Amino acid sequence: MALKTKAMTEQLELFGCIQCGKCTGGCPVARKTVLNIRSMIYNMLVEPELDVKAHEELWDCTCCFTCVERCPKDVRPADLIIELRGQLVESGRIPETIGAALMGTFRQGNPSGMAREDRAAWVNGTEVKAAQEGCELLYYVGCTPAYDLRVHTVTRALARAFTAAGLDFGTLGTEESCCGNEIKRMGEAGLFEMLVEENSELFRSVGASRLVTTSPHCFNTIKNEYGLDGIEVLHYTQLVAALIEQGQLELSNEVNKKITYHDPCFLGKQNHVFDEPRAIIQAIPGVELVEMDRNRERSLCCEGGGGRMWAEGTNLEERLAFQRVHEAAETGAEILAVACPFCLLTLEDAVKVQGLDEQIQVMDIMELVNLSLGEE
Ligand code: SF4
Ligand code: SF4
Repeated sequence: MALKTKAMTEQLELFGCIQCGKCTGGCPVARKTVLNIRSMIYNMLVEPELDVKAHEELWDCTCCFTCVERCPKDVRPADLIIELRGQLVESGRIPETIGAALMGTFRQGNPSGMAREDRAAWVNGTEVKAAQEGCELLYYVGCTPAYDLRVHTVTRALARAFTAAGLDFGTLGTEESCCGNEIKRMGEAGLFEMLVEENSELFRSVGASRLVTTSPHCFNTIKNEYGLDGIEVLHYTQLVAALIEQGQLELSNEVNKKITYHDPCFLGKQNHVFDEPRAIIQAIPGVELVEMDRNRERSLCCEGGGGRMWAEGTNLEERLAFQRVHEAAETGAEILAVACPFCLLTLEDAVKVQGLDEQIQVMDIMELVNLSLGEE
């Protein structure tokens, strides 16, 4: 399959590229697979057509945006990958699991294809109002936090914290649909636009002035790509850190643990939220926070973004998450804290596979907050 590259090259302003290689030099996936974003841009610049049929590694990109962060010429290399994936989606040349994720989202409103009527099952007795009744804060739960049993502790802990802080919040229950962040990055621009339209209409109908998300992925797209004028969009770490600082949420129980924190790409690199997660951890009595060498902008991707939760990629042997949990264990931390459902799942799995379960445990920051809030 040959793609006409001229229009794409102009549209993405690839002519600004000086081939310095900082993008590929910083790409975590390039060290593990044949993905080479610098040479892909080179090919786009010198060849009238690009043959991508053999480029299976296009699906290796996690959309971590390290390349975008590092490019000195403001080229956005990752956008090229998303664009090329879009061409592959249009021609139907996509991995089966990506196709299933897109179909699941189209039919049931979530990439795992779980039944829409089960979307609110996580509530399970937790105090949550229907946002449709009207509320000040709309809690956008997101697909993985709504359906994945492991992540339910995080979702419930958030609802509990909002209640404890006296917030007037609600959720959209079974009417909520996928935010589309991963859908866009898998290359399905049409489905993404449809989700934005449907979700935006629903969000506005509630009349909330603020919207908070569990996942940095939902936060990223709703904040930067929806254009929701008049609604402030927050990741939970921003809201919870403010609640603690303003004295609306009191963390009283000690958690006597050494903890290190993993910055998720969509919260850190892409939205520069670095301080709030650390402020929450440090507000928990008894905690000692230690940093990994690669932290903040230099944090290593867990390999869960850009549709990779639904696509294995070409390197099954050496996951980035394997490397990351060793980096965390080397700090001597007993807990590796995360603030993203994908990081929670990929890193927890890596701890088990690497046999580090005796040494270190992966927990979401909200699970730590829940411990510190004490018994319900
Ligand atoms: S970092 Fe930017 S300028 Fe350098 S090779 Fe990559 S895209 Fe080109
Ligand atoms: S977004 Fe991340 S994984 Fe994808 S090419 Fe850029 S640096 Fe590599």
